[in-house]
Amino acid sequence: TYAKNFLRSLQKLKQFFKEVSTGNLNAELDKSVLKRDDELSVIGYAALSMQTSLRKLIELDALTELHNRRSGDKKLRETYTKAQTKNQPFCLVIGDIDHFKIINDTYGHQNGDIVLQNVAMLLKTHCRDKGYAVRWGGEEFLLIYENCSLEQSLTYLEELRQKLAQTAHCFENDEIHVTMTFGIACDSTMNVKQLLQLADEKLYEGKNNGRNCIVS
Ligand code: GH3
Ligand code: MG
Ligand code: MG
Repeated sequence: TYAKNFLRSLQKLKQFFKEVSTGNLNAELDKSVLKRDDELSVIGYAALSMQTSLRKLIELDALTELHNRRSGDKKLRETYTKAQTKNQPFCLVIGDIDHFKIINDTYGHQNGDIVLQNVAMLLKTHCRDKGYAVRWGGEEFLLIYENCSLEQSLTYLEELRQKLAQTAHCFENDEIHVTMTFGIACDSTMNVKQLLQLADEKLYEGKNNGRNCIVS
């Protein structure tokens, strides 16, 4: 019986490795392997940990640990489909740090990176229980408010805009503040591409209107 169970667990491990190695990072390892009292469960836990690390490497942005563009885009499409199916509103926001080039030029790229990390942390905390944040490009971020009206999203965003502007970023001898401009799109008749385009147009409008604002 022992040998039979052992072989069955080995088979399950083999199957798991095969799935992960062909790119299925959501593959599940049978719980029975982990419950074993021998090296196979140790290998099982190590395999799960490797799967988590791989997923992080592929899905998260290295600097900010937010979703990267690829996984953000995938998540956005899932959110969109869910919203359409359940007939729930959701809002898509593109936010961009204002005059970020000046920060790099004045304080150096390394300090620029610190600002990006701080901003990302704020965005992540802000989105908790509301949706999620994505690093869309250099100093540009996507925020998704799930199952959320335009009115509610605007209230959330205004809170965030103020919080960002008030937050100090400290370097060795300096303390600076940065602001962000946001464009928001919320329209259930549009597809993902149209929503992204609309939010981008609104962001551009905000940049032309003096920045540190929200345009809907
Ligand atoms: P605007 O208010 O119009 O958005 O002005 P801006 O200066 O923020 O915009 P611009 O597109 O001119 O400059 C963006 C800068 O962001 C230039 C680029 O070097 C910098 N940047 C992009 N990614 C990173 C990064 O990972 N680290 C750092 N430190 N800088 C970055
Ligand atoms: Mg910018
Ligand atoms: Mg930009």
